[in-house]
Amino acid sequence: MINNNYIPVIGLEIHVELKTVSKMFCGCKNDPFGAEKPNIYTCPVCLGLPGALPVPNKKAVEWCVKLGLALNCRIPLFSKFDRKNYFYPDLPKGYQISQYDQPFAIGGWLEINSPQYIRKKIGITRVHLEEDTGKLLHAQVEGKKVTLIDFNRSGIPLVEIVTEPDVRSSEEARLFLKKLYQLIRFLDIADADMEKGSMRLEPNVSVMLKNSSKLPPYKVEIKNINSFSFAKKAIDFEVKRHTDILEQGKIPVQETRGWDEKKSQTVSQRSKEEAQDYRYFPEPDIPPIRWTESQISGFKSQIPELPDMKIKRFMEEYGLSGYDANILTDKKETADYFEKAVKASPKISKAIANWIINKKADITKISPVELIELIQEKSQVAALPAGDLENIIDKVIRDNPKPVADFRAGKDTAIMFLIGAVMRLTKGQADASAARKILEGKLK
Ligand SMILES: [Zn+2]
Repeated sequence: MINNNYIPVIGLEIHVELKTVSKMFCGCKNDPFGAEKPNIYTCPVCLGLPGALPVPNKKAVEWCVKLGLALNCRIPLFSKFDRKNYFYPDLPKGYQISQYDQPFAIGGWLEINSPQYIRKKIGITRVHLEEDTGKLLHAQVEGKKVTLIDFNRSGIPLVEIVTEPDVRSSEEARLFLKKLYQLIRFLDIADADMEKGSMRLEPNVSVMLKNSSKLPPYKVEIKNINSFSFAKKAIDFEVKRHTDILEQGKIPVQETRGWDEKKSQTVSQRSKEEAQDYRYFPEPDIPPIRWTESQISGFKSQIPELPDMKIKRFMEEYGLSGYDANILTDKKETADYFEKAVKASPKISKAIANWIINKKADITKISPVELIELIQEKSQVAALPAGDLENIIDKVIRDNPKPVADFRAGKDTAIMFLIGAVMRLTKGQADASAARKILEGKLK
C-alpha cells in the first residue's frame, strides 16, 4: 500500500556504451557483443599493462559533448580526465580513467513527456566520459567456482549521465529513461540496449516526508537493472522498504543494493563509497581538453532534429495532434518513413499518419510508396459519397430477395446478412451502423 505521507526522491545515473569503431584510449575494436570469443580485442592499453599510454578517441569525446548539448547542458571550455582509483579484478590498471570535477557537460535538463501529456523537466547534473571495465563471468571449471574475466569490454567509451534528484516516481523514472534512450538513438551514438548491458541504470532512491523542505539524509543506490520494467519494480520495492523503516522512526542505511529479479526484491551489497575513497587526481597521461566557442557551435550545428523539435514540427506542418506526433516520432525510423510517404503524397498526410499509428500495414515490409498505393486503393472505396452507399444498398436489396422478405416478415436477424453483403461490396469500408440505418429505412 502506498503511504501518502511520504514522497520518493530519486536521482538517476545512467551509463551508456558509445558505438565508436574503436575503444576509448586504444585502437582495439569496440564490439564486445559481436566478438567470437573473450579477450580477442585487447592490447597493452586496455589490459592495463605498465607503460602503455592512452590516446583519447576524438569521436567519443565529440559524441559526449553532443549528448551534453542535446540534454541542454553547458559545455565548459576547459575539461579534463581524472583517475578514479579502486581495486577490483575487472579493472587491470587499478584505476579507471574518468572525469571528476571538470566533466564535458554540466547543468542541463531533459523534459519527459508522454502521450498522456505528462510534462516535466528533470535536471541533468552532468554528462561525462569514462572507460568501461572488463566483464566478470562467474562459472564452474572442473567442479570449482571461478570468476573469469573478458577484457573485450575493457576500455570501451562509456558516457555517464547523472540527473538531479528530481524524479518523484518509478513512472517518471521510466519516462525519463525512455526519453533518454530515444534521444541517444536519434543522435545515433549508441545502441543503448539495456538487456545486453550497453545501457545501465543505477537509481539513487530515498524517501522523505511530504512537507519536508530538506532532502533526506541518506540514499540507496540500486545496481543490476537491465530492463525498463526491472527499473520500475526495483524503485517501487525500495520506496516501500524505506517508507516502512521511516514509519518505525528509523533511517534506512546508506548502501548499495542489487536487484534480484528471481526474488523480486533488492539485496544489500555493500555500504556506499564516498568520493574521497577513490582518491581522484588528474590523469597525467592525457592533456586537458580546451574548446573554442566556435567549436562548440560547430557541434551544435551537427545535432540532428531531436524528438521534441520533430513533434512540434509534425504538429505545425502536417496538422497532427500532439498524441499522433508523439507516436510517429517515437522511433527515428518511423518518423523518417512517415515523412518520405508524406513528401510523395502530401494531400493524404493524415491518412498516412493514421495508417502508421494504427498499424494498418506492416511498414517494416513495404516502402512508403507502396503504403501510399495501398491507402489510395482502400480510400477509393472508403471515400464513398453517401449516395454511393445508397446505390450499393439498393443493389443488395435487389440481389437478396429472401433475407429482405424474412426481415419484412419480422425476422430481425436477417438484417445482419444484408449488412454483411454491404460490407463485402464496399470491402469493409462502409460504416456498418450507417448501412443499417439506411437498410432499415428502405425496408420499412
Ligand atoms: Zn586495446
